[in-house]
Amino acid sequence: MIPAIYSNLCPICHEDLSTEEIEEQKCTRRNTKFEKAFENKEAEQFFQFFSSRIGEPRALQRLWAKRIFNKESFAAIAPTGIGKSTFGIAMAAFLAKNGKKAI
Ligand SMILES: [Zn+2]
Repeated sequence: MIPAIYSNLCPICHEDLSTEEIEEQKCTRRNTKFEKAFENKEAEQFFQFFSSRIGEPRALQRLWAKRIFNKESFAAIAPTGIGKSTFGIAMAAFLAKNGKKAI
């Protein structure tokens, strides 16, 4: 992953979020795992859906999914080739399969 800092996007402390924190799935400021902010059964179902059709989701894709199921509104900003489009298509298919809509 290309090192980057995402301003004010840490799901725990809401301050800057680094790629290292995304890889570790942990806020280093508060020493708290991201899963504490996003404990969600639907996200786990999506990870299984994604894994069975595409492969293991990347850490950033897992973070985006958790944010979606946490009903957050956000922009997925990442360098080319990280998997934004793949994520979007997979999420739209998962939501449609469960009777929901995606734009
Ligand atoms: Zn943080």
